[in-house]
Amino acid sequence: MTASAPDSAPALEVDHVSFAYAGRKALDDVSFRVRRGRFTALLGPNGAGKTTLFSLITRLFDARIGSIRICGQDLARAGASALAPLGVVFQQPTLDLDLSVRQNLRYFARLRGLSVKDADRRIDDQLARLDMAERVGEKVRSLNGGHRRRVEIARALLHDPEVVVLDEATVGLDVPTRKAIVSHVHELTRSRGLAVLWTTHLIDEIETDDDLVVLHRGRIVATGTARSVVEATGTTTLDAAFARLTPRAETVEEAR
Ligand code: ATP
Repeated sequence: MTASAPDSAPALEVDHVSFAYAGRKALDDVSFRVRRGRFTALLGPNGAGKTTLFSLITRLFDARIGSIRICGQDLARAGASALAPLGVVFQQPTLDLDLSVRQNLRYFARLRGLSVKDADRRIDDQLARLDMAERVGEKVRSLNGGHRRRVEIARALLHDPEVVVLDEATVGLDVPTRKAIVSHVHELTRSRGLAVLWTTHLIDEIETDDDLVVLHRGRIVATGTARSVVEATGTTTLDAAFARLTPRAETVEEAR
């Protein structure tokens, strides 16, 4: 792992972040922590603000209100160097379809300053863990959606990050593939002490011991372990808790 900050600093800290598109608020005073060795699910319905928050954490946009720290480093003050301990899987696939799996991963490794030899060692290691070793020479175009996602996850791990953020990483995948990927990422938190922020609107991707942040209309409406969030809402399942925490507009209107 990169030795960028004391182990005591939370892997990711989001403090009082607000963000608006042309005056229309998408995030309103959002604060939470992602701890090392923990799978933190950022759960919210469509339009909750998940991708906006993801874009601020990855610095596609700058957070002008509030602060974001990665391993103790403030994104606004430290700039690009604060992103060194971060691995990212975007919602939209970003692999070059006409390059092979190895070429895609080598390119990224070079951007991160790894030598070809070191990159190839890491590429082989990551692909083996994802049962993708034998696909390394294939063009990405020939891979199915699940295998492409695995390559993107391998890519996010190549530089040995401390925090990995994934934005709806299982979108469009069939159920067995989704389950395998979710299970692999959970395993990474346990085996490597990785901090993971997993944005999703799919409740079945969350385990009861995971940390959970529920976002609704730009605001955090619950945090804690998934189990504690269920208990706090007086429900018995995460489905029921989520429905209670994120009422749809028409339901709110009907209740008035
Ligand atoms: P989804 O699950 O549908 O991807 P989300 O939780 O990721 O939703 P965001 O995409 O962050 O939510 O959107 C939050 C709010 O900001 C929504 O009201 C959305 O319409 C608005 N929004 C998002 N991107 C833009 C943009 N580029 N310009 C204007 N408004 C935007």
